[in-house]
Amino acid sequence: MSQRVRVTRVSVKGASPFIGLSDNGDSGSERLYSRDPDELMRWLCGAWRTRFNMHRSRRNRYDKDGNLVPIGGEPDLRTPKQSRLTQSWTAAVPTAVLESPDRLERQDWFAAVKRRETLKQQGKDPGRMPRFRSRKHSPDIFACWYNNGRNARFQRVGRRSGIVFITGQNPGQYTASGKRESFVIRIHVRLSEPVCAYTSVRVNWDRRELVFVNDPQAITRQPTHKAVGIDRGVAVAVATSDGAMLRLPKNDLKRADRLVRMHQRAQARAIKASGKTTKDYYRGQMSKRFRAHARAISRLSAKASRTVADRQQKWSTGLVRDYDAIFIEDLNIAGMTSKTRPVPNPLRPGQYLPNGQARKRGLNRVMRQASLSRLETLIRYKADRAGVLVAQVPAPYTSQRCNACGHIAKDNRESQAVFSCINCGHTANADTNAARNILDAGASAHPEITHGTQQGRTCPGDGGTSDDWNRAIGEGRSPDETRTSAA
Ligand SMILES: [Zn+2]
Repeated sequence: MSQRVRVTRVSVKGASPFIGLSDNGDSGSERLYSRDPDELMRWLCGAWRTRFNMHRSRRNRYDKDGNLVPIGGEPDLRTPKQSRLTQSWTAAVPTAVLESPDRLERQDWFAAVKRRETLKQQGKDPGRMPRFRSRKHSPDIFACWYNNGRNARFQRVGRRSGIVFITGQNPGQYTASGKRESFVIRIHVRLSEPVCAYTSVRVNWDRRELVFVNDPQAITRQPTHKAVGIDRGVAVAVATSDGAMLRLPKNDLKRADRLVRMHQRAQARAIKASGKTTKDYYRGQMSKRFRAHARAISRLSAKASRTVADRQQKWSTGLVRDYDAIFIEDLNIAGMTSKTRPVPNPLRPGQYLPNGQARKRGLNRVMRQASLSRLETLIRYKADRAGVLVAQVPAPYTSQRCNACGHIAKDNRESQAVFSCINCGHTANADTNAARNILDAGASAHPEITHGTQQGRTCPGDGGTSDDWNRAIGEGRSPDETRTSAA
């Protein structure tokens, strides 16, 4: 887990940090000091990137003949201490900043290696290996270890504001007195909630953002002796066997979708008016307005995806906290979002009949947004750490089987929302019925876990209604109740 906060301003206390020699070590070079916030932050980001690329230069790749060669030609093997001595602009950079690329570069590299392997296995384009961070194209970022309070300490100064203190020293060779001089860079941030225990801070200066990075903590929970089946869908994102209906904020997402399409149409008009092909237009000079539309689109999409992610985090935490066992249907999500098969028109060769692709395209968009597989990933991740069982059960007929008598028929499903058994007359919400079937299938497959939990199962209607659930999740109970305040 991590917490993102906004940087409001930066100030310095103590000595002016030494940011390097004017021409790096030649005779007559001037010592540069700065108290300018932007200059100081860019200085830290630059030093961080330099160290990052030093580590990156030690990575190898296979060349045409199958030999392992360093990716950048010559590997740079300098230690932080050596780089301080040879690169004057890193001389006063705090150790907690200068050492952090060591681990972060490794994480970045091996995450990419793993991702490419997975994509290759799935027969997809693995993309290229990560490269060096570029001064021009990579965002200006740096990280600083907290190291049990040795640096990047946080202090709350107001109800909604706090300061992160990054301390460092100008080495004696670069001070007037010849003695080391300390400085404190104070990053002022705006908060909306208490800061949790963290292990490092990461600053994105381009976006004026600071992230407190936390080690993932397990959800603290007591055994509840309850099991749950959950049915994931599009109309209702998650239906539980207890009758809860968890929905995404549909109107917000629809509005974002509408605005995105509006901007896309405007972009299409701009391309058409230019008389170029789409490809040529992107290659050439894009108009100012066109780029503004592109920024608006990415802002809206990011907002929508954060909305979905936030809900899913809260739902998965709630489920893991409230149940000892969670059963999920085994969905073929890739199949559900793929295109429909084309249907050739037998009367007119070369033409095709309507096959529902237009309708399915809308659905695909919603499905992608709902990102069903991510919810499962989140549940598994949190359940793993909390000792909760998560198991998949086969999906077929979970939506057509009557939970009361077991009768399976397509006609059982009266509409999208209502289930009505043609055999015994049992009626229920269709999604709740499916979730109960999933729970029953899971319970019979895992008798050791669910022994005695069936009695604890509450009926839909008495008590645990969807509104209660949504409210309980939406308010107060944040994703981590286990958080401890670091301030
Ligand atoms: Zn029935």
